[in-house]
Amino acid sequence: MSDFFESHVGVTDPLIGDALVHELNRQQTQIELIASENIVSRAVLDALGHPMTNKTLEGYPGNRFHGGGEFVDVVEQAAIDRARKLFGCDYVNAQPHSGTQANQAVFFATIKPGDRILSLDLAAGGHLSHGAAPNQSGRWFDAHHYGVERDSGLINYDEVARIADAVRPALLITGGSAYPRSIDFARMRVIADAVGALLLVDMAHFAGLVAAGAHPSPLPHADLVTCTTTKTMRGPRGGLILARDARWAKQLQAAIFPGVQGSLHSQIIAAKAVCLGEALQDDFKNYGQQVVANARALAQVLSDHGIRLISGGTDTHIVLLDFSSRGLSGQQVQDSLARVNLTSNKNPIPFDSSKPSEWAGLRLGVAAATTRGLGVAEFGQLGEIIARAIERCEQAGDSGVETDRMRVLELCQKFPIYV
Ligand SMILES: *Cc1c(COP(=O)(O)O)cnc(C)c1O
Repeated sequence: MSDFFESHVGVTDPLIGDALVHELNRQQTQIELIASENIVSRAVLDALGHPMTNKTLEGYPGNRFHGGGEFVDVVEQAAIDRARKLFGCDYVNAQPHSGTQANQAVFFATIKPGDRILSLDLAAGGHLSHGAAPNQSGRWFDAHHYGVERDSGLINYDEVARIADAVRPALLITGGSAYPRSIDFARMRVIADAVGALLLVDMAHFAGLVAAGAHPSPLPHADLVTCTTTKTMRGPRGGLILARDARWAKQLQAAIFPGVQGSLHSQIIAAKAVCLGEALQDDFKNYGQQVVANARALAQVLSDHGIRLISGGTDTHIVLLDFSSRGLSGQQVQDSLARVNLTSNKNPIPFDSSKPSEWAGLRLGVAAATTRGLGVAEFGQLGEIIARAIERCEQAGDSGVETDRMRVLELCQKFPIYV
């Protein structure tokens, strides 16, 4: 036991130690284009790997069930205060273990099993936790969905109003995982009010852009807002619940604990506080603006190459590619990008097959590479590399793979992480 407090995992557990080494090397030598990923600061990692993980606490700052919580109280209160300031809202719950659990707690606080909910369809870019059939939310609630228009790829708000009027949901949900455009929150508010529904905006993907002032904020319009602290927020794995006022505070506090969670993840809350502190700095505003500029640059290059983009472009960090007219699957393109050290994910496009192997879309996100330091020029270069990788799928050829892989590795070296 003498080494228990000193020995690192590489020594005590080579299987896991090696996997961790390889994972870091993977991240250092590829450009991450998965839209739900980002690269956290060393300071966030410090908090995540801290012995604060040993501390068990239930309840909220100043009202705990266990002793010894004075320093966790400091970090949780900081996370709450910082999120309030950052998003200009009154209510914050910093404890959700994930974005999905933040949503689950909102449901627990505001609606009852069997109640009707209305959300963006999964195939149109929605999220599993918004009432999709395999998710608990789909089993416990009577879930209805609105989609996007086939041609424009955009939400048609008149259509949402029509469905809301027919369905009369208790909760109207908007936000998603693969919707590249900004959503008209004010219009959603009007639709919710017309049918007496609460409005939940799940800004998991674009929360960091809202924080940076690079995207409209849902907070003035929504009754409740949830997000992750990953993705564009660039923090640890976890979620937040926010609300512009404290109307639902009592129910939300109880919904997280003891409703759907037990003790808090102390060290993660410390990491959330660190990431929220970073998001309050001027640098984060630059990052948010750069994310949007980079996504637009990437979208432009790809559409110049004749690649179809859902909604024709982007207002966020997401660019959603549609290969349905080219006879390619998202999986083929994902594999082709992997060969040149670009990581991405296949995705359904609106009205796509329900089988992942047949999905005709690929989702790209620019947040992680923007954090790395890549700008518009580099995204122009990446766009060319991606376009060639798509062409290679069609020609089933190998030419240029090695050259493009070296180009990506050069970018990785020019914009290193965790050195
Ligand atoms: C990613 C995402 C979530 C889920 O977050 P997890 O932390 O993975 O549970 C919820 N809602 C939306 C819209 C998302 O994109």
